[in-house]
Amino acid sequence: MGIYDIIVIGGGPAGVTAAVYARRKLLKTLLISKNIGGQVLQTDNIENYTGYEGRSGAGLADIFERQLEAVSAEVASDVAVEVTRDGAVFMVRCEDGEYRGRAVIATGGSSAKRLGVPGEEAYLGKGVCVCATCDAPMTRKKDVAVIGGGNAALQSAELLAKFANKVYLVHRRGALRADAILVERLRKVQNVEFMLGKEVLEIKGSAKVEAIRVRDGASGKEMDVPVQKVFVEIGMEVKLDYIKGLADMNEYGQVIVDRLQRTSCRGLFAAGDITDLPYRQAIIASGQGAVAALAAYDYILESS
Ligand SMILES: Cc1cc2nc3c(=O)[nH]c(=O)nc-3n(C[C@H](O)[C@H](O)[C@H](O)COP(=O)(O)OP(=O)(O)OC[C@H]3O[C@@H](n4cnc5c(N)ncnc54)[C@H](O)[C@@H]3O)c2cc1C
Repeated sequence: MGIYDIIVIGGGPAGVTAAVYARRKLLKTLLISKNIGGQVLQTDNIENYTGYEGRSGAGLADIFERQLEAVSAEVASDVAVEVTRDGAVFMVRCEDGEYRGRAVIATGGSSAKRLGVPGEEAYLGKGVCVCATCDAPMTRKKDVAVIGGGNAALQSAELLAKFANKVYLVHRRGALRADAILVERLRKVQNVEFMLGKEVLEIKGSAKVEAIRVRDGASGKEMDVPVQKVFVEIGMEVKLDYIKGLADMNEYGQVIVDRLQRTSCRGLFAAGDITDLPYRQAIIASGQGAVAALAAYDYILESS
């Protein structure tokens, strides 16, 4: 089995950019992923990826594919299961094969935790949103619901209140988990209504979202709340099981990186949503992917 200079795990913005940069340094590069595009495939509208004007995520993923082809990056349609290090060489064990590399760039991405209610998956990207930073400007003059009771939910509600007509903060418990200072600030925002102790049962609509059905925990009474957008803010799950034990993680299970995207394991770099940077955006993932590839290139030169 030959040895790659760099093995990139993941085909989202971070992984694709890392592979493109690695190839432009003429490194023997393998990208392992079942898809090209990652989470951007899940959205109908990307408006904040510089150079790409308000079009579908699938369209951006097509451009990623063309860029990988243009640099002749090798792609294995596989899923990484475990990465181990033997001296200066990494072994990446996948579901269908094993690959060896001198450096690894991990970019498995993340996914928003789901409520698991009817309508949620069907309207994802069509009214159900998982990223207020991405979609807040699209809520002008709309009534929206933010589901969740932690800091992320309250910060999203605060941002959305600047754009939307009305923001309902819906939380199934009677008390919020968010920092008191955030709660206090949000209570003063005129167009925010707290709906505590209300469980979301369903996201309803026709072509687009039209309402959420909620049940009051105390009375058991159900009602529809008319909204055009629903922001699910109940936490994120990072996908990095395959490097667990190899690199240091923070309390949220994200991999800790320095400003060159280096992890605590020499030769193992990480980029995008799996890292401890608090911002989850496609352009940021791409930027981190570029840095990771350039730093991996330097690492390979130094260790040759
Ligand atoms: C509905 C939605 C709308 C969004 N809208 C925007 C927006 O408008 N603007 C914006 O900037 N951001 C947006 N985001 C966020 C943005 O898409 C992410 O921040 C970005 O895609 C993260 O890039 P990434 O490469 O780190 O991870 P991902 O895009 O999650 O890519 C991870 C890749 O790794 C692969 N992978 C995972 N595990 C393995 C494994 N074990 N082996 C091999 N491959 C693996 C996945 O299949 C995927 O290809 C949106 C996200 C969603 C869900």
